[in-house]
Amino acid sequence: MNPFSLTGKTALVTGANTGIGQAIAFAMGRAGAHVICAGRSDCSDTATQIESAEVLKLDLADPMAASGVFSDRPIDLLINNAGIIRRADSIDFTEADWDDVMDVNLKAVFFTAQAFARAVLARKGEGRIVNIASLLSFQGGIRVPSYTAAKHGVAGLTKLLANEWAGKGIGVNAIAPGYIETNNTADLRADPVRHKAILDRIPAGHWGQPDDIAETAVFLCAPAAKYIHGTVLSVDGGWMAR
Ligand code: NAP
Repeated sequence: MNPFSLTGKTALVTGANTGIGQAIAFAMGRAGAHVICAGRSDCSDTATQIESAEVLKLDLADPMAASGVFSDRPIDLLINNAGIIRRADSIDFTEADWDDVMDVNLKAVFFTAQAFARAVLARKGEGRIVNIASLLSFQGGIRVPSYTAAKHGVAGLTKLLANEWAGKGIGVNAIAPGYIETNNTADLRADPVRHKAILDRIPAGHWGQPDDIAETAVFLCAPAAKYIHGTVLSVDGGWMAR
Protein backbone atom coordinates (compact mmCIF):
# COMPACT_ATOMS: atom_id res chain seq x y z
CA MET A 1 0.00 0.00 0.00
CA ASN A 2 1.24 3.49 -0.87
CA PRO A 3 1.26 5.37 2.47
CA PHE A 4 0.64 8.67 0.64
CA SER A 5 -2.40 7.51 -1.33
CA LEU A 6 -5.99 8.56 -0.62
CA THR A 7 -7.49 6.00 -3.01
CA GLY A 8 -10.88 4.80 -1.81
CA LYS A 9 -11.39 7.81 0.48
CA THR A 10 -14.02 10.52 0.21
CA ALA A 11 -12.90 14.03 1.18
CA LEU A 12 -15.03 17.11 1.82
CA VAL A 13 -13.22 20.43 1.34
CA THR A 14 -14.92 23.68 2.41
CA GLY A 15 -14.26 26.82 0.38
CA ALA A 16 -13.17 24.74 -2.62
CA ASN A 17 -13.96 27.29 -5.34
CA THR A 18 -10.72 29.27 -5.05
CA GLY A 19 -7.35 29.74 -3.33
CA ILE A 20 -6.05 27.21 -0.83
CA GLY A 21 -9.30 25.21 -0.75
CA GLN A 22 -9.30 24.75 -4.51
CA ALA A 23 -5.66 23.65 -4.46
CA ILE A 24 -6.43 21.18 -1.66
CA ALA A 25 -9.38 19.76 -3.65
CA PHE A 26 -7.12 19.27 -6.70
CA ALA A 27 -4.40 17.62 -4.60
CA MET A 28 -6.89 15.29 -2.87
CA GLY A 29 -8.12 14.27 -6.31
CA ARG A 30 -4.57 13.66 -7.57
CA ALA A 31 -3.98 11.47 -4.50
CA GLY A 32 -6.96 9.32 -5.51
CA ALA A 33 -9.80 10.61 -3.33
CA HIS A 34 -13.36 11.31 -4.39
CA VAL A 35 -13.73 15.02 -3.59
CA ILE A 36 -16.81 16.87 -2.41
CA CYS A 37 -16.12 20.48 -3.34
CA ALA A 38 -18.16 22.54 -0.88
CA GLY A 39 -18.66 26.28 -0.75
CA ARG A 40 -20.99 29.24 -0.66
CA SER A 41 -19.90 30.03 -4.22
CA ASP A 42 -20.31 27.51 -7.02
CA CYS A 43 -17.46 24.98 -6.96
CA SER A 44 -18.21 23.45 -10.40
CA ASP A 45 -15.07 24.89 -11.92
CA THR A 46 -12.99 23.01 -9.32
CA ALA A 47 -14.97 19.78 -9.55
CA THR A 48 -14.77 19.53 -13.34
CA GLN A 49 -10.95 19.50 -13.10
CA ILE A 50 -10.92 16.50 -10.72
CA GLU A 51 -11.31 12.91 -11.90
CA SER A 52 -13.93 11.98 -9.28
CA ALA A 53 -15.72 14.93 -7.69
CA GLU A 54 -19.04 16.57 -6.94
CA VAL A 55 -20.21 19.97 -5.72
CA LEU A 56 -22.07 20.87 -2.57
CA LYS A 57 -23.62 24.23 -1.72
CA LEU A 58 -22.56 25.05 1.83
CA ASP A 59 -22.75 28.54 3.33
CA LEU A 60 -20.95 28.46 6.66
CA ALA A 61 -22.15 31.93 7.64
CA ASP A 62 -24.63 29.58 9.35
CA PRO A 63 -22.15 27.65 11.51
CA MET A 64 -24.57 24.70 11.74
CA ALA A 65 -24.96 24.45 7.95
CA ALA A 66 -23.03 21.18 7.70
CA SER A 67 -24.99 19.39 10.43
CA GLY A 68 -26.86 17.13 7.97
CA VAL A 69 -24.11 16.68 5.42
CA PHE A 70 -22.24 13.68 6.82
CA SER A 71 -25.10 11.31 7.67
CA ASP A 72 -26.03 10.39 4.06
CA ARG A 73 -22.91 8.39 3.17
CA PRO A 74 -19.40 7.75 4.50
CA ILE A 75 -17.07 10.74 4.29
CA ASP A 76 -13.56 9.94 5.54
CA LEU A 77 -11.72 13.24 5.35
CA LEU A 78 -12.76 16.77 6.31
CA ILE A 79 -10.79 19.88 5.38
CA ASN A 80 -12.10 22.89 7.30
CA ASN A 81 -10.65 25.52 4.97
CA ALA A 82 -13.34 28.20 4.45
CA GLY A 83 -12.45 31.49 6.04
CA ILE A 84 -12.88 35.25 5.84
CA ILE A 85 -10.90 38.23 7.10
CA ARG A 86 -11.91 41.77 8.05
CA ARG A 87 -9.34 44.51 8.50
CA ALA A 88 -9.79 47.63 10.64
CA ASP A 89 -8.06 49.30 13.57
CA SER A 90 -9.17 47.64 16.81
CA ILE A 91 -10.37 51.00 18.07
CA ASP A 92 -12.94 51.13 15.25
CA PHE A 93 -13.71 47.40 14.87
CA THR A 94 -17.43 46.63 14.60
CA GLU A 95 -19.48 43.90 16.22
CA ALA A 96 -20.54 42.69 12.77
CA ASP A 97 -16.89 42.25 11.72
CA TRP A 98 -16.28 40.35 14.95
CA ASP A 99 -19.33 38.06 14.65
CA ASP A 100 -19.06 37.34 10.92
CA VAL A 101 -15.46 36.19 11.21
CA MET A 102 -15.97 34.20 14.41
CA ASP A 103 -18.97 32.40 12.89
CA VAL A 104 -17.19 31.22 9.73
CA ASN A 105 -13.61 30.85 11.01
CA LEU A 106 -14.26 29.31 14.43
CA LYS A 107 -17.86 28.34 15.24
CA ALA A 108 -18.41 26.64 11.88
CA VAL A 109 -15.07 24.82 12.20
CA PHE A 110 -16.20 23.29 15.49
CA PHE A 111 -19.74 22.35 14.48
CA THR A 112 -18.67 20.99 11.09
CA ALA A 113 -16.06 18.84 12.85
CA GLN A 114 -18.68 17.72 15.36
CA ALA A 115 -21.12 16.68 12.60
CA PHE A 116 -18.33 14.82 10.80
CA ALA A 117 -17.19 13.02 13.97
CA ARG A 118 -20.72 12.04 14.98
CA ALA A 119 -21.15 10.29 11.61
CA VAL A 120 -17.73 8.59 11.75
CA LEU A 121 -18.30 7.34 15.30
CA ALA A 122 -21.86 6.18 14.49
CA ARG A 123 -20.54 3.89 11.75
CA LYS A 124 -17.50 2.87 13.85
CA GLY A 125 -15.29 4.17 11.06
CA GLU A 126 -12.09 6.17 10.82
CA GLY A 127 -11.58 9.76 9.79
CA ARG A 128 -9.10 12.61 9.51
CA ILE A 129 -9.75 16.31 9.95
CA VAL A 130 -7.42 19.09 8.81
CA ASN A 131 -8.27 22.58 10.00
CA ILE A 132 -6.70 25.54 8.22
CA ALA A 133 -5.27 27.75 10.95
CA SER A 134 -2.85 30.66 10.37
CA LEU A 135 0.37 32.24 11.56
CA LEU A 136 -2.13 34.34 13.52
CA SER A 137 -2.80 31.18 15.53
CA PHE A 138 0.58 32.01 17.13
CA GLN A 139 1.15 35.71 16.51
CA GLY A 140 -1.00 38.79 17.05
CA GLY A 141 -1.11 40.38 13.63
CA ILE A 142 -2.30 43.96 13.11
CA ARG A 143 -5.84 45.29 12.44
CA VAL A 144 -7.41 41.79 12.32
CA PRO A 145 -8.72 41.22 15.87
CA SER A 146 -11.53 38.78 15.08
CA TYR A 147 -9.34 36.82 12.64
CA THR A 148 -6.55 36.48 15.21
CA ALA A 149 -8.97 35.46 17.95
CA ALA A 150 -10.62 32.89 15.67
CA LYS A 151 -7.34 31.41 14.42
CA HIS A 152 -5.94 31.14 17.96
CA GLY A 153 -9.21 29.33 18.69
CA VAL A 154 -8.72 26.96 15.75
CA ALA A 155 -5.30 25.95 17.13
CA GLY A 156 -6.78 25.28 20.57
CA LEU A 157 -9.75 23.38 19.18
CA THR A 158 -7.45 21.23 17.05
CA LYS A 159 -5.61 20.09 20.16
CA LEU A 160 -8.79 19.59 22.19
CA LEU A 161 -10.49 17.54 19.49
CA ALA A 162 -7.33 15.47 19.00
CA ASN A 163 -7.32 14.70 22.73
CA GLU A 164 -10.95 13.56 22.61
CA TRP A 165 -10.96 11.69 19.31
CA ALA A 166 -7.46 10.31 18.62
CA GLY A 167 -8.27 7.15 20.56
CA LYS A 168 -11.56 6.77 18.70
CA GLY A 169 -10.16 6.60 15.17
CA ILE A 170 -10.34 10.27 14.21
CA GLY A 171 -7.13 12.22 13.65
CA VAL A 172 -7.33 15.99 14.01
CA ASN A 173 -4.56 18.33 12.91
CA ALA A 174 -4.17 21.83 11.52
CA ILE A 175 -2.00 23.62 9.00
CA ALA A 176 -0.84 27.15 9.71
CA PRO A 177 -0.16 28.64 6.27
CA GLY A 178 2.33 31.45 5.93
CA TYR A 179 1.71 34.28 3.49
CA ILE A 180 0.06 32.65 0.47
CA GLU A 181 -0.98 34.39 -2.77
CA THR A 182 -4.82 34.19 -2.66
CA ASN A 183 -7.80 36.56 -2.41
CA ASN A 184 -7.30 36.58 1.37
CA THR A 185 -4.00 38.46 0.99
CA ALA A 186 -4.87 40.65 -2.02
CA ASP A 187 -5.01 43.82 0.14
CA LEU A 188 -1.58 43.09 1.66
CA ARG A 189 -0.01 42.41 -1.72
CA ALA A 190 -1.50 45.62 -3.11
CA ASP A 191 0.22 47.65 -0.36
CA PRO A 192 3.88 47.95 -1.47
CA VAL A 193 5.16 48.76 2.03
CA ARG A 194 3.41 45.80 3.73
CA HIS A 195 4.25 43.49 0.82
CA LYS A 196 7.97 44.26 1.07
CA ALA A 197 8.01 44.09 4.88
CA ILE A 198 6.46 40.62 4.74
CA LEU A 199 8.69 39.40 1.92
CA ASP A 200 11.83 40.59 3.73
CA ARG A 201 10.95 38.35 6.71
CA ILE A 202 10.32 35.13 4.78
CA PRO A 203 13.50 32.98 4.86
CA ALA A 204 12.45 31.17 1.67
CA GLY A 205 12.53 34.55 -0.11
CA HIS A 206 9.08 34.37 -1.68
CA TRP A 207 5.38 34.21 -0.81
CA GLY A 208 3.75 30.77 -0.80
CA GLN A 209 1.43 29.29 -3.40
CA PRO A 210 -1.82 27.43 -2.59
CA ASP A 211 -0.18 24.18 -3.74
CA ASP A 212 2.36 24.47 -0.91
CA ILE A 213 -0.50 24.00 1.54
CA ALA A 214 -2.41 21.45 -0.54
CA GLU A 215 0.23 18.74 -0.53
CA THR A 216 0.64 19.08 3.24
CA ALA A 217 -3.11 18.56 3.65
CA VAL A 218 -2.89 15.37 1.60
CA PHE A 219 -0.03 14.15 3.79
CA LEU A 220 -1.97 14.81 7.01
CA CYS A 221 -4.92 12.81 5.62
CA ALA A 222 -2.80 9.91 4.36
CA PRO A 223 -1.85 6.69 6.17
CA ALA A 224 1.72 8.07 6.42
CA ALA A 225 0.48 10.56 9.04
CA LYS A 226 -1.63 8.12 11.07
CA TYR A 227 0.29 8.74 14.33
CA ILE A 228 0.16 12.56 13.98
CA HIS A 229 -2.52 14.05 16.23
CA GLY A 230 -3.11 17.57 17.53
CA THR A 231 -0.36 19.21 15.51
CA VAL A 232 -0.57 22.75 14.17
CA LEU A 233 1.95 22.51 11.35
CA SER A 234 3.40 25.76 9.98
CA VAL A 235 3.89 25.79 6.22
CA ASP A 236 5.39 29.22 5.96
CA GLY A 237 8.71 29.38 4.13
CA GLY A 238 10.43 29.54 7.52
CA TRP A 239 8.53 32.59 8.89
CA MET A 240 8.05 31.14 12.40
CA ALA A 241 11.73 30.26 12.65
CA ARG A 242 12.68 33.91 12.32
P1 NAP B 1 -9.73 32.91 -0.27
O1 NAP B 1 -9.20 32.75 -1.65
O2 NAP B 1 -10.41 34.15 0.13
O3 NAP B 1 -10.63 31.64 0.04
C1 NAP B 1 -11.52 31.58 1.14
C2 NAP B 1 -12.53 30.52 0.87
O4 NAP B 1 -13.47 30.46 1.95
C3 NAP B 1 -13.33 30.82 -0.40
O5 NAP B 1 -13.64 29.64 -1.05
C4 NAP B 1 -14.57 31.44 0.19
O6 NAP B 1 -15.68 31.43 -0.67
C5 NAP B 1 -14.76 30.55 1.38
N1 NAP B 1 -15.77 31.08 2.29
C6 NAP B 1 -15.80 32.31 2.83
N2 NAP B 1 -16.93 32.47 3.54
C7 NAP B 1 -17.63 31.32 3.40
C8 NAP B 1 -18.88 30.87 3.87
N3 NAP B 1 -19.70 31.68 4.59
N4 NAP B 1 -19.29 29.62 3.56
C9 NAP B 1 -18.53 28.82 2.80
N5 NAP B 1 -17.33 29.20 2.30
C10 NAP B 1 -16.89 30.44 2.60
O7 NAP B 1 -8.51 32.78 0.75
P2 NAP B 1 -7.52 31.58 1.09
O8 NAP B 1 -6.25 32.21 1.42
O9 NAP B 1 -7.60 30.50 0.09
O10 NAP B 1 -8.17 31.09 2.47
C11 NAP B 1 -8.41 29.74 2.77
C12 NAP B 1 -8.11 29.53 4.25
O11 NAP B 1 -6.72 29.74 4.47
C13 NAP B 1 -8.84 30.49 5.19
O12 NAP B 1 -9.27 29.80 6.34
C14 NAP B 1 -7.76 31.49 5.54
O13 NAP B 1 -8.00 32.12 6.77
C15 NAP B 1 -6.56 30.60 5.58
N6 NAP B 1 -5.26 31.26 5.51
C16 NAP B 1 -4.86 31.90 4.38
C17 NAP B 1 -3.60 32.50 4.36
C18 NAP B 1 -3.08 33.21 3.16
O14 NAP B 1 -1.97 33.77 3.23
N7 NAP B 1 -3.77 33.24 2.04
C19 NAP B 1 -2.78 32.44 5.47
C20 NAP B 1 -3.23 31.78 6.60
C21 NAP B 1 -4.47 31.19 6.61
P3 NAP B 1 -15.99 32.74 -1.61
O15 NAP B 1 -15.05 32.65 -2.77
O16 NAP B 1 -17.40 32.55 -1.96
O17 NAP B 1 -15.72 33.94 -0.76
